[in-house]
Amino acid sequence: MHRARKRFGQNFLQDDGIIYSIIALINPGPDMHVIEIGPGLGALTRPLLRNLDQLDLLEIDRDLVAYWNQQNLEGLTVIEGDALQFNFLEWANTRSGKKGFCKVVGNLPYNISSPLLFHLVSAATQIDEQIFMLQAEVVERIVAKAGSSDFSRLSVMLQARYDMELVLEVPPEAFEPQPKVNSAVVRMIPRKDFKLSDTQWSALEQVVAAAFSQRRKMLRTNLQAFSERLSLTEIELKSRAQDITVERYVEWAKVLAS
Ligand code: SAM
Repeated sequence: MHRARKRFGQNFLQDDGIIYSIIALINPGPDMHVIEIGPGLGALTRPLLRNLDQLDLLEIDRDLVAYWNQQNLEGLTVIEGDALQFNFLEWANTRSGKKGFCKVVGNLPYNISSPLLFHLVSAATQIDEQIFMLQAEVVERIVAKAGSSDFSRLSVMLQARYDMELVLEVPPEAFEPQPKVNSAVVRMIPRKDFKLSDTQWSALEQVVAAAFSQRRKMLRTNLQAFSERLSLTEIELKSRAQDITVERYVEWAKVLAS
């Protein structure tokens, strides 16, 4: 029997209704390439595999990797590794070639969710969809709109790259052991209209980090270093980072990178 390991954020799904809903959201089908981050004991893995010709698993816990290797299931490829180091771009290129939909899915370990979401941005050109269970608070933050107190650096960066939607709320009782927080599932689809170059993306990272560096301060202070180039309006100078739209941040990034 596997004992859940806290350091790997192991909270295993056990509610059949919730599992069914997540599988329906992933909507697995033949000709689709799916990688599941953190299969654990297989709450999502087994139903996924019933509807897919092939499924890749990425798991950091050696005992669970051994468990999956022993199962010897057809169509299953088990990769031992840390999702924060894994090359998702290479995975998508190898798997899909020019054919088929690429999806990254998982009930993610909550302790690494923000860095993992940033890490995945580098593969967004080749990924069609991401469906993740995260801490509800994180999902609320990433889908928050400008003007909301939840609107943050994470919201701007991820909304610049993905269309996102909170699609399911999940209570602690759906897991064993139960986490202390509520959870939610987010659907993330790389934006079709995304056109930033690497330099423009870096400029976006810089200007957004500066704007949110002191949340309560006005942009007059936080963006002082950029003010000459950005020609902020009087209203913007008196605004706080959370009041500026994603589109406006993107415009600033383009100016700074030009
Ligand atoms: N999918 C299972 C479920 O829903 O019951 C398990 C989910 S559990 C919240 C998170 C899983 O991610 C565990 O299997 C854990 O070992 C794995 N994990 C934790 N950190 C990881 C990392 N850095 N890279 C890959 N897998 C990781």
